[in-house]
Amino acid sequence: MAPCPNFRKCGGCQLQNLPYSEQLLHKQRQLVSLLGEFCHVNDIIGMDDPTHYRNKVCAAFGLDRQRHIISGIYQTGSHSIIPVDECMIEDKIADGIIVDIRNMLRSFKIQAFDERTGTGWLRHVLVRRGFQSGQVMVVLVAVSPIFKLQKPFLKKLTELHPEITTVVLNINDRFGPVVLGSREKVLLGDGYIEDSLLGLCFRISPRSFYQINPVQTEKLYSIAIEMAGLTGKELVLDAYCGIGTIGLTAADHAKQIVGVELNRDAVQDAIGNAKHNGVKNARFFAADATRWISEAAAAGERADVIFMDPPREGSTPQFLDSVARMAPKRVVYVSCNPETLARDLALLTKKGYRVESSTPVDMFPHSEHIEVVCALSRRHKA
Ligand code: SAH
Repeated sequence: MAPCPNFRKCGGCQLQNLPYSEQLLHKQRQLVSLLGEFCHVNDIIGMDDPTHYRNKVCAAFGLDRQRHIISGIYQTGSHSIIPVDECMIEDKIADGIIVDIRNMLRSFKIQAFDERTGTGWLRHVLVRRGFQSGQVMVVLVAVSPIFKLQKPFLKKLTELHPEITTVVLNINDRFGPVVLGSREKVLLGDGYIEDSLLGLCFRISPRSFYQINPVQTEKLYSIAIEMAGLTGKELVLDAYCGIGTIGLTAADHAKQIVGVELNRDAVQDAIGNAKHNGVKNARFFAADATRWISEAAAAGERADVIFMDPPREGSTPQFLDSVARMAPKRVVYVSCNPETLARDLALLTKKGYRVESSTPVDMFPHSEHIEVVCALSRRHKA
């Protein structure tokens, strides 16, 4: 029996009807079939407690047929909202905040946005909580910047949840699946939260990518850094670096870190994170990783180690080509999609790299998603 009443409707925890140990076996088998031709797949690293691990919760707001405000998740493949008050993988405090906001809307006479009629105001609530710091960010995503009763609303909300350290209003007046719009207004606090990973403190803005499972992230990064075999002398590229987490954690063991990331907010966070942690040997660039590395390779720049952590679609042939031209002795590939990883490994192995090992880390218990980190080394001089 599946423990969640929304099993199948939500589309989230596809593996929840399997005991956790079997979920891990299922993922391991899948990885062996996808990556087995390249290397040995080490045993997947699971969680001791695979529940309530998500530090980021996003709820859609809308109206039911009786025009009552509801909040929850979109039903798979549709835009109807399944009401959700608590979820076995989401942070409990974040879930509680979302329920309280929904109840407050009624008393403050604030309307949820109705996609059918285009009326109402609030579309989504995003909550991010720092696992170590306990800091909480609430992002209210609304169709307009006019927030009636803003002051009393925030007063009441922070009375109910004194753990909230910042509230941001994000304006999204476009149709489509993207939750956050490009305009933002900080209503309370700094507009970001901080959290720590492996002893460093990281600033996280509303639109920056941050790993959603902090317990497993520390394990993932520790393995990635160990695979890099750093001695303190290396020039290291951290491609698709987000807020700089991997590169900054590795900075102590390297000569110089260069991070490249497309999202400008994340790059700003990364620069602030370097400063805040007293890391002096890291620089960050806001650019498309393929474009940046192609230019660097063409200019004859080198790297000793390249970390790459692309999104689900994987990297590009041009990026991988430039990796080979820069000829690092090691590449550490962190992937959240083993299919695109296998495709990219096939290319890298053609270009003179050997996959030494791979270690899966279960970042997404109960879901089908698989995270894995691979170490590659250069077979011969490029
Ligand atoms: N290494 C980081 C982020 C990994 S997620 C961490 O562990 O937290 C993948 C990152 O790639 C995201 O931050 C996303 O904004 C970024 N990204 C997506 N497409 C990109 C591109 N074409 N060039 C550079 N970065 C890109």
